[in-house]
Amino acid sequence: MLVTTLYTQPSSLAIGAVATVGATAVAAYVSQAFWLGVACVVLAAVGAARVLSAIVLAADDRKASTQTLELAYEIGAFSYALALGLTAAYTIWWETGAQVELLMVANTLGYGIGVSARNAGRMTIAVGQLALTCVPTAIACFATGELTRIALGMTILLLIPAMISIAGNIFTVLRDSIASAETSRKLADKMQRLARTDVVTGLANRAGLDHAMIETMMRVDAETRIALFWIDLDRFKEVNDLLGHPVGDRVLKQVAERLREVSPDGATVARFGGDEFIVFTRIADRQIAERVASEIHCEIMRPFRIDGERLEVRASLGVAMLPDHGTDADTLMQGADLALYRAKVNGRAQTCFFDSSMTRDLVRRREIEEELRIAIQRDELSIFFQPIVDLDTGRIRAFEALVRWFHPEKGELKPDEFIPVAEETGVIVTLGNWITAQAARVAAGWPDDVSVAVNLSPLQIRAPGAALGIKNALREAGLDPRRMELEVTESLFIEDNHATAAFIDELSEIGVRFALDDFGTGYSSLGYINTFPLSKIKVDRSFVSGAHVGRKSDAIIRAVAEMGSTLGMDIVAEGLETIEQVQAVREAGCTLGQGYYFSRAVPDYLAAMLLAQEREQDIRQVNG
Ligand code: C2E
Ligand code: CA
Ligand code: CA
Repeated sequence: MLVTTLYTQPSSLAIGAVATVGATAVAAYVSQAFWLGVACVVLAAVGAARVLSAIVLAADDRKASTQTLELAYEIGAFSYALALGLTAAYTIWWETGAQVELLMVANTLGYGIGVSARNAGRMTIAVGQLALTCVPTAIACFATGELTRIALGMTILLLIPAMISIAGNIFTVLRDSIASAETSRKLADKMQRLARTDVVTGLANRAGLDHAMIETMMRVDAETRIALFWIDLDRFKEVNDLLGHPVGDRVLKQVAERLREVSPDGATVARFGGDEFIVFTRIADRQIAERVASEIHCEIMRPFRIDGERLEVRASLGVAMLPDHGTDADTLMQGADLALYRAKVNGRAQTCFFDSSMTRDLVRRREIEEELRIAIQRDELSIFFQPIVDLDTGRIRAFEALVRWFHPEKGELKPDEFIPVAEETGVIVTLGNWITAQAARVAAGWPDDVSVAVNLSPLQIRAPGAALGIKNALREAGLDPRRMELEVTESLFIEDNHATAAFIDELSEIGVRFALDDFGTGYSSLGYINTFPLSKIKVDRSFVSGAHVGRKSDAIIRAVAEMGSTLGMDIVAEGLETIEQVQAVREAGCTLGQGYYFSRAVPDYLAAMLLAQEREQDIRQVNG
């Protein structure tokens, strides 16, 4: 930067050149001295060359190195100063006349002083120019031996230290201000980098990702393909809650490292909120995108070691590509988000690429969201009941209440489709209260030894006044609280929530029982089975029927059943569809069973009929 100050304002160079060349021309003309004519030509040539080179080099400063620029300037400056100094010395020594001498000496000194101030940015140049103008002039003065000229020579020499100190001051001021400008620029750069970085992982944050996306999108053409991988760690909240945030942070850091390693060169890797990551990159084609996705997946699923402990983290991936799935960054994000949602709905731990059906699903979800609020008033919802059967006696011990939505246009909607929407939107609280009230009312009409099981979402339980809502439903229906069972999933217990414990305590006190639903699908930590008063464990149907059934699942059922019998809990096998399955789970130690083998979920009047049939059989047995 100091060197470039030499090249700023070529106009001041031009003024200096014009003044001195003009003066020399006048001096040559007045004195008719041949050498002054030569000096005039030389000065004009060097001066013109310097102004020109200043203009050219200043225009494309990036191409020439600092050294070249400085050297070029030095050669020009020194030769010009020397030529001028020699010219002035000539006018003194060869006695060209007082006026010519005055003109040239004054011009030369003026030039020397002015230029050394101008070029204070490079002290060698400033001092060199001053010396080359002043020293020949002073020597010529001394050589004449005349008192006045010797005095002049002395003053000229004194100029040198005086100007060095002045130029030195200018240099310091210039250098310091350049340095502080540099520092504040670096600081600003650093601040900007920090603002775009995630503190925990060192990856880009949302702002960083936005920035990278804008930069990339500005440079795309019709040929460019871009892929966006949206990665969500499955059930990471559980890792955080069970093992603590410091461990969670370390897992995030390791995930970040692995992502960085596995991402293509030039990709932007960002952390996007708690446990979500985004890899944004140019990509050659879909096949390569698929390969990258599977590499990312494998890397994250590889077990982590934290303090010697093995930890497994699973992830879901949503991928969208440009230009296949859209034309701008926003649609790309939306597409990947929808694909990720699909990956999670499909059972997590998998990758989904965006396709247009997902947009249709989104539209459907939005519709469901809107219509669910009015569905209750319109009487489109009803509760079905599925028997839970004693595997020893074959008698119905309870019914599970399962909500059904008969939509006037869409037909029957599955709870798996609208319960998550109800949870997302908070409608589940109203919906849940309605379901409990209905179920309690129906159950009140059943024999005393048959209870009803109602599913509760965690959100419902954490809502203020949750316990009161259930108590009210029981009171209004006149149902003994001991005949009400609430099915909860283990995700509820992972979080050490005060409200949850209070809810369970309050209802347990009046006799309401709790069942642990879908056991085996989540974290399956057994700790809370002791902590909370659970009366039942429902082993998920994936252990009974489905791809994973085998010796391992059989062993798990056996272990759980044994634990159940020790702790005096009922173990329910869900999803029993065949007699073989019923026999297998019974043999494994399950006490209760539920599934299509016994009955599907049926409307209340059919549930009542099933019970009536059972009683009739009893009577027939007694009589006959
Ligand atoms: P869940 O609590 O695990 O309920 C059991 C589900 O398995 C029911 O599906 C039931 O119809 C089905 N099922 C029962 N026997 C068999 C069988 O033999 N084979 C197969 N393949 N499936 C069987 P449904 O009614 O579609 O409910 C799905 C899920 O929706 C429930 O799973 C529950 O988590 C939720 N859900 C249903 N009703 C409610 C409700 O009133 N409130 C809340 N919060 N969630 C509900
Ligand atoms: Ca259930
Ligand atoms: Ca279940």
